[in-house]
Amino acid sequence: MSRRIIPLADISAIPDFSGVASAPSGTLTDTLARPLRDLRISVTDRCNFRCVYCMPREVFDKHYQFLPHAALLSFEEIERLARVFVEHGVEKIRLTGGEPLLRKNIEYLIERLALLRTPEGRPLDLTLTTNGSLLARKARSLKDAGLSRVTVSLDALDDALFRRMNDADFAVGDVLDGIEAAQAVGLAPLKVNMVVKRGTNDQEIVPMARHFKGSGATLRFIEYMDVGASNGWNMSEVLPSAQVVERIDVHFPLEPLEAHSAAETAQRWGYRDGSGEIGVISSVTRAFCGSCTRARLSTEGKLYLCLFAISGHDLRGLIRGGASDEDVATAISRIWEARGDRYSQLRGSASAQARDDAPRVEMSYIGG
Ligand code: SAM
Ligand code: SF4
Ligand code: SF4
Repeated sequence: MSRRIIPLADISAIPDFSGVASAPSGTLTDTLARPLRDLRISVTDRCNFRCVYCMPREVFDKHYQFLPHAALLSFEEIERLARVFVEHGVEKIRLTGGEPLLRKNIEYLIERLALLRTPEGRPLDLTLTTNGSLLARKARSLKDAGLSRVTVSLDALDDALFRRMNDADFAVGDVLDGIEAAQAVGLAPLKVNMVVKRGTNDQEIVPMARHFKGSGATLRFIEYMDVGASNGWNMSEVLPSAQVVERIDVHFPLEPLEAHSAAETAQRWGYRDGSGEIGVISSVTRAFCGSCTRARLSTEGKLYLCLFAISGHDLRGLIRGGASDEDVATAISRIWEARGDRYSQLRGSASAQARDDAPRVEMSYIGG
């Protein structure tokens, strides 16, 4: 069945903040008792890659209408919203996109966000997900601006395959140089995320494990997901994480490790020889909705409560309409308190099927 790309002027409504104001207490929970702890902010919908599973060139071609600059949240608007989210309990902010390093002067935004403190006075865990293509050039300035660490996406070591997967002829060597530069300036612990697509790059699992074993970077394998509307997802292309672990274990014996926290999305496995660990993120075969504490702010300021959401809440409309910080805080608490999203748990069920027919937001817009 074909799915539609979500129109950019979608049906998101300006959130309601009328009535009694609710001051942030840092302990907001949704209908499934999940607290609000993480915020992903998409700072651009543009990208210099055309990864086949995310921004296929047939859709994101020269006719594709990216957002005009005025539609994007400004750095001041992002900072203002982020401050309210932090008052509500957010402890971790991840900048994403599109390719976040393409947003001009991103270091300035990082400087501002690095100054935010949790209600207990702690700095945030401030991180960024990047395709790594500009990282060698930018690692030092990102670190100096106050970024804590980075996650780099890398789907293959084989240069020809990597170029095919990014479909923009970027060489793998540039990304590896970026990873090295980030580690050298102390953007650590660095994570490397590999999306595994069966039949496309699963032969790279063991070489990737070999390459990053003992490097100080943690390699994480992500199951290919049915996000967005344009990647033509098919379950037969998902390689269950359990098989990823089996394949690596044959070459480099692994043992399970304890989770760092209940909200951790990756299951950790350690190399028995003590040379580090890997993670597997089983978004499809083992849903972790029960501990999903994430909100997502789109490039144009819409708040999404789930990666698979059909519509968002227009926070940009709210602040550009003159709402006070108190109004924004009230709106966010109402939205989060009404949240019941758990798409991955329901995937395949009748309600998820019904939702599958509705237009979904793209990963490059909502931020991965
Ligand atoms: N451009 C940056 C990058 O690639 O790291 C940040 C944005 S990208 C949308 C964030 C993450 O989403 C990347 O690690 C990417 O591999 C992942 N991703 C995109 N589409 C995906 C899909 N269909 N299934 C699983 N992960 C996906
Ligand atoms: Fe760009 Fe990241 Fe999507 Fe690849 S995964 S197209 S690098 S936004
Ligand atoms: Fe969270 Fe939605 Fe993913 Fe479940 S499907 S883990 S609720 S983003």
